[in-house]
Amino acid sequence: MKPLFEDLKQELRTKNINLSYQRLKVLEYLTQNQCHPTVEQIFTVLHEDISTLSKTTVYNTLHVLVEAGLVRVITIDQNETRYDINVENHGHFKCDSCGTIYDFGIDMEKLSPVTLKDFKISDRSVYFKGICSDCL
Ligand SMILES: [Zn+2]
Ligand SMILES: [Zn+2]
Repeated sequence: MKPLFEDLKQELRTKNINLSYQRLKVLEYLTQNQCHPTVEQIFTVLHEDISTLSKTTVYNTLHVLVEAGLVRVITIDQNETRYDINVENHGHFKCDSCGTIYDFGIDMEKLSPVTLKDFKISDRSVYFKGICSDCL
């Protein structure tokens, strides 16, 4: 289930998080472009419409959304941080050729190593890399 902008706004309201117009635009962008964008991508597109928007605002907004559990940080690539509005458990595949990051379904609950039995796990990330079928 892909999250909808209106639902997320409602969720923020219940968490008592008030987002400014600029910050809401960042959230809206994420719901409309579920391609795991970087800060740079988000900023470049939104800045065309909102000339007063700063990159810091984009960073800060993402930080708030991550803290609120509405956005997930994807660090599949060491050189760039990407953001995912889909916080349901799923794996990521990055194509080394075109750079696209694909989602794939995976049962994360089955990925609990028995040796970490008494550990509290707060995040499970599954990253695959290779060449996608379009590039092959
Ligand atoms: Zn590809
Ligand atoms: Zn994803």
